[in-house]
Amino acid sequence: MLREQQVIIVGAGIAGASTPWQLARRGVTALTVLEQEDAADRHSSGRNAAILRTAMEDPVLHLLARESLEFFRRPPAGFADHPLFEPCGLYLAAPAAQAGALRAWALDPECAVGAFEVPPAELYAKVPELSPGVEALISIPEEGVFDLSAIHQGFLRGAKAAGAELRYRTAARELLVEDGRVKGVRTDAGDLRAGTVVLAQGGWGARLAAAAGLDLPLVPYRRHLLVTEPLAGVSGWPVVWLSGTEFYFRPESGGLMMSPCDQAVVDPDHGEEVDEEQLGVVAEKAAHWLPLRADAGAAFFWSGMRTFAPDHRFVIGPDPRCPGLHWVAGLGGHGITCGPAVGRLAADWILGPAPRDEAAAALAPGRLLSRPTLS
Ligand SMILES: Cc1cc2nc3c(=O)[nH]c(=O)nc-3n(C[C@H](O)[C@H](O)[C@H](O)COP(=O)(O)OP(=O)(O)OC[C@H]3O[C@@H](n4cnc5c(N)ncnc54)[C@H](O)[C@@H]3O)c2cc1C
Repeated sequence: MLREQQVIIVGAGIAGASTPWQLARRGVTALTVLEQEDAADRHSSGRNAAILRTAMEDPVLHLLARESLEFFRRPPAGFADHPLFEPCGLYLAAPAAQAGALRAWALDPECAVGAFEVPPAELYAKVPELSPGVEALISIPEEGVFDLSAIHQGFLRGAKAAGAELRYRTAARELLVEDGRVKGVRTDAGDLRAGTVVLAQGGWGARLAAAAGLDLPLVPYRRHLLVTEPLAGVSGWPVVWLSGTEFYFRPESGGLMMSPCDQAVVDPDHGEEVDEEQLGVVAEKAAHWLPLRADAGAAFFWSGMRTFAPDHRFVIGPDPRCPGLHWVAGLGGHGITCGPAVGRLAADWILGPAPRDEAAAALAPGRLLSRPTLS
């Protein structure tokens, strides 16, 4: 009976927070979450842009985003004592060369909800200093900026209140596999036995399993974010995402958060180092779109990892090679936006019976395993 069996979750980012929360609510209380750091937000889940944007080019991921949006709008009683996001409005904008491509997916009801095309003048009225050149403009007025800590801590607090144990400064060093089944993990403090082990390791996604001969092609990519020093006149701006040059900005801490939208493959142990060259790239993009702000000083500049499977779809579900082993990984650039549904789907797989919906099949780890060919 799974509800009485120990479940170990490796990693306490958003994946390793929403999964135990969902399991605990559904009666699994023998849960241990292992986090190698001294806090849950040291890596991607605490280093991201905190943008709620459910419009996604991939309809499967959009399904998870839609489900999650309902959660963010109406979280269960006691989850948080204030709203989980601020609906400051979000615009997807494109110059002429990318206008058709943007319209093609952002106005497709399978990829976006609550999104509609508006004249570019609407954005120029809100951000008068934006350079000319926006040809297509999609407005999603009810989306905006997350309260990351309220969401992440809400999941962890809820899981703990339902009986889950959260151990910080405890790295899983090795997967214990016996007779082809997962049996637990090895830590510096000894072995922990469990019938189910869930890998929710973010940028380190593939490492533990690879050492046990169970590799999956998960690749971390580094992306930088910059927050300027406080600037006059930007606090009421919406979130603006520009296709083509790939650049986004939004108000943050009295200034502007901007991203150069870089993506370099990294070794996760060095994945959050800062590449000073990216300061130049973000300055160039700001000079193009927001020339009046291009010289603003940086108050904060950092990077984080977005980890992808080759098809850029999440990896959620059981590993067919090793009974008891589950993955909640490869959340790429949408892990917070889809966090509640990610945990729900992971819990569905762990508790069984196997979910039969479109998203479950499309995100299952088995799709990434090469199949033997008949010769
Ligand atoms: C610059 C940037 C901007 C982004 N912007 C957005 C955005 O606006 N909206 C959005 O929805 N998403 C955004 N994302 C994506 C989002 O941050 C990620 O998809 C999400 O945080 C991934 O969560 P995770 O739990 O998989 O990984 P993480 O948050 O990295 O958590 C994994 C945890 O596992 C731990 N761990 C790893 N190995 C072990 C081990 N062996 N033992 C114990 N613990 C271990 C790590 O210490 C870490 O805490 C952005 C990402 C970046 C980098």
